Amino acid sequence: KAPVLTIDGPSGAGKGTLSQLMASRLGWHFLDSGALYRLAALSALSHGIDLDRAEDVALVAAHLDIHFDPDSGQVLLEGDDVTRVLRTEETGGAASRVAAHTEVRQALLERQRAFRVAPGLVADGRDMGTVVFPDAELKIFLTASAEERARRRVAQLRESGGEADFEAVLADVQARDERDRNRKDSPLIPATDAITVDSTHLNVEAVLEAIMEQARA
Ligand code: C5P
Repeated sequence: KAPVLTIDGPSGAGKGTLSQLMASRLGWHFLDSGALYRLAALSALSHGIDLDRAEDVALVAAHLDIHFDPDSGQVLLEGDDVTRVLRTEETGGAASRVAAHTEVRQALLERQRAFRVAPGLVADGRDMGTVVFPDAELKIFLTASAEERARRRVAQLRESGGEADFEAVLADVQARDERDRNRKDSPLIPATDAITVDSTHLNVEAVLEAIMEQARA
């Protein structure tokens, strides 16, 4: 089996930046599992399916017709360009709702495991090290305070030309954390063999350094 490096943690901890950097340095594939949950939610919505209907959403999730263009970063869902809408707060909230269904998580399990091909995979998510790739070679759990994660999210939203109110984003971050932590299966917790790094006061290079240091220990 190809080696896997898992990076789990709450939204806004910097997993995306870190995992893409590590994937490109290693020359490995990259799995953004959150994008799969987002796409499942978007697909359900576009078919008029109630997000609370676990079985129906799971059916859609099992048959996702998606295409990633690694060069442009463009994402197509059933042929439609969803690159922008995929990243909105609204889609994130909808993803977190569908991710609460056991049936949906099950439907996406094999799809995620299929990304594990040579020369290796960097997997970004919430349960990569605990559920999807429990035998991963290296597991990282990346955290940051809710305030710092909300600050980063606001900066990101403003950068992409959007409006963002700090208090509203913070409330949203906290609500999503709560939901992710209290899921009945795959709750957001570090794997027992994960290296935990707090990125509140660290940039991506410093995070990498902290990981290397702990991996050596
Ligand atoms: O990481 P991202 O914000 O794109 O994930 C969107 C939502 O999908 C998260 O809030 C979480 O509820 C869910 N998710 C999950 N398991 C994963 C990745 C994401 O439940 N492995």
